[in-house]
Amino acid sequence: MSKRDYYDILGVSKNSSNDEIKKAYRKKALQYHPDRNPDNKEAEAKFKEAAEAYEVLSNEEKRGRYDRFGHAGVQGAASGGGGYSMNMDDIFSNFGDIFGGGIFGGFGGGQHRGPRQNKGSNLRIKIKLSLNDISDGIKQKKVKIKKYVACELCNGNGARDNTHHSCTTCRGSGQVTRVTNTFLGQMQSTSVCPACGGEGKTIKHKCTNCAGEGIVRDNDLVTFDIPAGVTEGMQMNIKGKGNAARRGGINGDLVVFFEEEEHKELERDENNLIYQLNLSVPDAILGFNAEIPTIDGKVKVRIEAGTQPGKILRIKGKGLPTYGGYGKGDLLVAINIWIPKTINKEEKKIFQKLKNSNNFDPKAENKSFFDRIFN
Ligand SMILES: [Zn+2]
Ligand SMILES: [Zn+2]
Repeated sequence: MSKRDYYDILGVSKNSSNDEIKKAYRKKALQYHPDRNPDNKEAEAKFKEAAEAYEVLSNEEKRGRYDRFGHAGVQGAASGGGGYSMNMDDIFSNFGDIFGGGIFGGFGGGQHRGPRQNKGSNLRIKIKLSLNDISDGIKQKKVKIKKYVACELCNGNGARDNTHHSCTTCRGSGQVTRVTNTFLGQMQSTSVCPACGGEGKTIKHKCTNCAGEGIVRDNDLVTFDIPAGVTEGMQMNIKGKGNAARRGGINGDLVVFFEEEEHKELERDENNLIYQLNLSVPDAILGFNAEIPTIDGKVKVRIEAGTQPGKILRIKGKGLPTYGGYGKGDLLVAINIWIPKTINKEEKKIFQKLKNSNNFDPKAENKSFFDRIFN
């Protein structure tokens, strides 16, 4: 299905201001709001379409991408990839911004029709990884987490006798409806049932272990795999491993953030590793068999006689694996020549003698610095 142009949806021009976009969206949202168009699928689709258009055009960065690349530029922009689409909760959660609250007292409040399902909150944890961990990934990483888990006594539903009763105030719908007069005319407003908190059901005898909540705080051992090649700041969502929801709702997610531990000798540059090799002056001149640390042990590398400072040696495939891809980066050995700060009399004599030698005269070679490094 081809998508309509966001500017067309809101009926504004490409160079309209933020204020014009906001006004246009406000108008559309009022026109197609589900509370004014009960059970009207077409209005609901238009309402969602307008909200999506507004979501993109009201955000400078997203609008820029949309202007340059069209729908493709904002696809997958919503967290987690996949197509770009909003649900009613997203839409209503943006309403405060547009309507400044107030105007619509009990204006749906972001509730879906029908009783509400409880959702557990997400948990965030940080995991420190060494370069070795990043190189290999970790299978079956186990983390102990203190969180809300389902009560074992009542199986998480909160009732001692395992039975729920339909709420008499809202007759199980979780919502109460009332009609209010606003400056836009009469509006039907729906709000969360105060008797059952929107769940549509009540409990007669609460479970004694969890006081009817269906959840208790406890330690939980969570096991998951960490893929190879992850980077600092990357986050991984583990579905359903966050806090359990009240009375048998949907569990929240566990969000894992990665942090990189510094390595003693190696630095990371995306999937390449860098090692700074300090050569002594004689070693650089005479040649040297160097031992270079890698993620999996040392490798021997021949440093040729006459190696120049700033030269970079590339050891293929000794870097880190590419996240979600194939192959490995390289280990780059950056050559520095180490100059002593003080020398003794004898050493001084040697260098003074060398000073007049033709081979130590830099003018004898007129290649540029870069020619020497990348020859
Ligand atoms: Zn219980
Ligand atoms: Zn109720």
